[in-house]
Amino acid sequence: MRVRVWGARGSLATPGPSTVRYGGNTSCFEITSPSGALIIIDCGTGMRELGQHLRAAQPAPHRGHILISHTHWDHIQGIPFFEPFFTPGNTWDLYAPKGVRQSLRQALEGQMQYSYFPVRLDELGAEIRFHELVEGTFQIADVTIRTRYLNHPALTFAYRLEAEGAAIVYASDHEPHSRHLADGTGHVAGEDLRHCEFLKSADLVIHDAQYLATEYPQKIGWGHSTVEYAITVCRLARVRRVVLTHHDPGRDDDAIDRIVANARSNLQDAGCAMEVAAAKEGTALSIAGTGIRTGGAECTDPAIAHASAFGNPLILIAVADRLAADTLLDAAHADQIPAMEVGSSDAVLRAIGEKAPTLIVLEQQEGAVGPLELCKKIRGLRAGRDLPVIVVADTEDAQKGMAAGVTDWLIRPFSSAYARTRMRAWLLRTAARWVRAPMPPDEEQRLATLHSLGILDTPAEQRFDRLTRLAAGILRVPVALVSLVDRERQWIKSAHGVDIRQTPRESSFCAHAVAARELLVVPDALADDRFGDNPEVAGGSRVRFYAGCPLFVGQSCVGTLCVLDVRPRQLSSEQVDLLKDVANLVERELQPTGPAVASNGHAAG
Ligand SMILES: [Zn+2]
Ligand SMILES: [Zn+2]
Repeated sequence: MRVRVWGARGSLATPGPSTVRYGGNTSCFEITSPSGALIIIDCGTGMRELGQHLRAAQPAPHRGHILISHTHWDHIQGIPFFEPFFTPGNTWDLYAPKGVRQSLRQALEGQMQYSYFPVRLDELGAEIRFHELVEGTFQIADVTIRTRYLNHPALTFAYRLEAEGAAIVYASDHEPHSRHLADGTGHVAGEDLRHCEFLKSADLVIHDAQYLATEYPQKIGWGHSTVEYAITVCRLARVRRVVLTHHDPGRDDDAIDRIVANARSNLQDAGCAMEVAAAKEGTALSIAGTGIRTGGAECTDPAIAHASAFGNPLILIAVADRLAADTLLDAAHADQIPAMEVGSSDAVLRAIGEKAPTLIVLEQQEGAVGPLELCKKIRGLRAGRDLPVIVVADTEDAQKGMAAGVTDWLIRPFSSAYARTRMRAWLLRTAARWVRAPMPPDEEQRLATLHSLGILDTPAEQRFDRLTRLAAGILRVPVALVSLVDRERQWIKSAHGVDIRQTPRESSFCAHAVAARELLVVPDALADDRFGDNPEVAGGSRVRFYAGCPLFVGQSCVGTLCVLDVRPRQLSSEQVDLLKDVANLVERELQPTGPAVASNGHAAG
């Protein structure tokens, strides 16, 4: 992939003699994929020159994709000045975080209203298509793109682009989740650790580094990283090269030079080979992979990780501090999200069962039993297992929080805008179209039966391989598996058409069939609210069709015989019967005391 910098200034364009070398234009980066697809990241004022360059470099029509991190001014101000938007015949796809009560189109229309600009958005000549995203994975030409929410007072995405084994991450407008990490020291945990995982092993990370640690105390809550934090998280993530961006408008060229020189000498002293530079307008980089393999490089329509609905959100607020509680209620109110205050721990636990909230905010109180204990109890409830729990506190205790199952921390003091963004992010996350399978009520007994078979982690055997081959052949599907659902994984006893031994239980289709104890057919996973954003669908193996028939040993459902395809499809009732017939043969092979133990599973089919 090739990267070219058109704007790297944060907050406000800052032209002038002291910013000539790094440039004064706000954020805009151009990426060209190995197959030649054009992907622009952010539409700051640098976008104007990029538009002129595109026009000069090749004749219309122009076709491209634009990833917008968020709609703060400095990331969209170039849009009305981007010439290729005015030319009929050009086609542009715009991607940005899905808003809560305002669409991407409305947000962009705002800055082009009559009072601010003479041309309206709908008067632009080019065809512009809007795509609203939540966290997930999608494809643009030969590039696989992953999104992740950053920590900023607006819903903001980091984008990870992978193609031909190379990975580039753009993470601008992001504040450390834990403020104690701003000086680059301290234990990285929780959401900051997840941020690291998103950057992991990237060949290039373009990272927000607006402030220095010494400036940070005056900038808390403004939504930006320090140079020290950016370098720490990139080092931990074993990033090959980091490019610092979103330069503070008050930073002149010499100051940026000093920052880079200082960072380089610190890394050298630490014996770290990571390269550091500051984003500089006009520079171009060529990024080759270091061997990360991505999934298939086939071209697909952009399959957008859209949230089908914001659902019926309800926020439960158990916060005694009146100021904090009012700030949270304000924030929920601004998004017209119902919120309910609850007093005691018992009331919280009761409300989870009765009201089915989609988010809980607890407060850590000195001396009281405390939210961590309560959080543990919530995790013990069936309805509370996957519920996002945010804890309000003066300081964060990441390790204890993780052990208790805390999802995120809201550290005082915080503004209503900040609280609003955190709550939105967690609500939208839960609106993602991916549902983990419920735990079967007989889980422990089921696992005991499975383990007693002594089959897990044994080598492949012809007696099973024959049956998966048969199932794939008669149903004309590329893949058939005998999958056994273990505590944390599904382990594959036999795989026809694919070389896998195990996958995580949380993304397992078979776990759904096992929990329901009946045949599960998913004709098109991408169109299914339970599976649309499942990583096996959105990324990796690109499953579109699934049919799994449960396998019983005695009363316990231990796994499935399943068939998969990368295309959507239907099964006729005759084919369903054939699948059940083969599953019956697999069941016979599974029985601990030889074949022919009666099974009760398929009658319910
Ligand atoms: Zn910005
Ligand atoms: Zn911003």
